[in-house]
Amino acid sequence: MEVVVVGAGVGGLALAQGLVANGVRVRVYERDSGPRQRNQGYRIHIDDTGGRALAEVLPPDVRRRVVETACHPGDLLAGFDSHLAPLFEQTFPVTDPDAVGAVDRYAFRRALMTGLDDVVHFGHEFVDYADTGDGRVEVRFADGRTTTADVLVGADGVGSRVRARLLPDFEVADIGVRCVYGKLPLTDAVRAHVPAAFLRGFCFASDGSGRGAAFAPVLFREPPEEYGDYLMVVFTGTPQALGRSDEELFALDPRELWQVVVAGTEGWHPSIRAIVAAADADSAFPITLRSCTRIEPWRTGRVTLLGDAVHPMTPAAGAGANTALHDAALLTGALSGGGPLVDALAGYEREMIGHARQVVADSLRRAEQMFGTTAVEPAAPADRGPDAP
Ligand SMILES: Cc1cc2nc3c(=O)[nH]c(=O)nc-3n(C[C@H](O)[C@H](O)[C@H](O)COP(=O)(O)OP(=O)(O)OC[C@H]3O[C@@H](n4cnc5c(N)ncnc54)[C@H](O)[C@@H]3O)c2cc1C
Repeated sequence: MEVVVVGAGVGGLALAQGLVANGVRVRVYERDSGPRQRNQGYRIHIDDTGGRALAEVLPPDVRRRVVETACHPGDLLAGFDSHLAPLFEQTFPVTDPDAVGAVDRYAFRRALMTGLDDVVHFGHEFVDYADTGDGRVEVRFADGRTTTADVLVGADGVGSRVRARLLPDFEVADIGVRCVYGKLPLTDAVRAHVPAAFLRGFCFASDGSGRGAAFAPVLFREPPEEYGDYLMVVFTGTPQALGRSDEELFALDPRELWQVVVAGTEGWHPSIRAIVAAADADSAFPITLRSCTRIEPWRTGRVTLLGDAVHPMTPAAGAGANTALHDAALLTGALSGGGPLVDALAGYEREMIGHARQVVADSLRRAEQMFGTTAVEPAAPADRGPDAP
């Protein structure tokens, strides 16, 4: 059996590792021209679900690489007002020195690519697929190249074109919140001025008028060549709270965009102002928060979906990547277990959808608590931002 995966993101790469380890032939096609393209680094919290899935699919050498390039685990989740008065605090004792509590997305993907040089093919933008008539699927790329496989897996993220072809009525809703993402490189001088809590885990400050800012440290065990430790800074609000329409916000260059954050945090605690002033404005990018509201089963065939492609969700529960990893472990089991292919895929889809429905509902609930928005409108189809979330 031959499997083609579209998308070398978190879920597609974990699936490829699992299939290779189980002796299943797999090729991954990614539209980026190489692993270094775009500014893709941001912090991803890995929870127990994601950790278990990684332990299931990764061979020991790849798992070791993931641990080595992960962050030192944090032990805090805390909320503040915009003057840093504490609102709530939860601590998590770190007991396992090899724990993968958080990763940088770029470093994580590089680690997941370990040993997959001949499996991952960059510069292949998927555009369409068709039934070959003899039980295989033909996969078509933007430059006219084609390939065939027994199974096609769409792991191509929130703007998935595989999903658009398979489930044309699938709706991805705009939850009404925009994020401006940025980073503060953590030099020794900067570190001394960052509130201690911000270096311990995920902290969220909000000014009570619909604007908020999240801070979370990326303290590498072993940093990538390209950059070192940083503090992730994510400013959030509705277009009204940010004082910019989408047309304005998404037309700004990174430095202009960061000025929206500088203006939005005026009057906040001096430590937050100092972080925002010192951040790397060139790394700023905007994101529209989107979520699916319904995931309905479809008639199982030779094309299936995984990760954000089938259950895009808000990042409020920190669960999108973890759910993609969970899918990868499930699908690895289904495709390497023997037995009739369509039954195996049907079993995967049933279990994946059941799990994803719960996580999406939880992420919508948490987004409501965190951002105070309930409005859900159909999202514009255009891709926006580096990962088009
Ligand atoms: C700022 C931020 C913070 C987040 N924090 C967390 C967190 O703490 N915990 C968590 O669990 N999740 C988090 N998430 C969500 C998480 O990043 C996603 O859920 C996860 O990356 C989804 O994995 P995926 O493999 O499904 O898709 P992706 O990782 O998005 O990968 C999709 C891949 O497909 C490729 N692709 C797209 N279209 C095509 C095409 N036509 N042809 C070929 N290739 C294509 C893309 O280039 C990409 O490489 C966060 C997201 C953001 C933006």
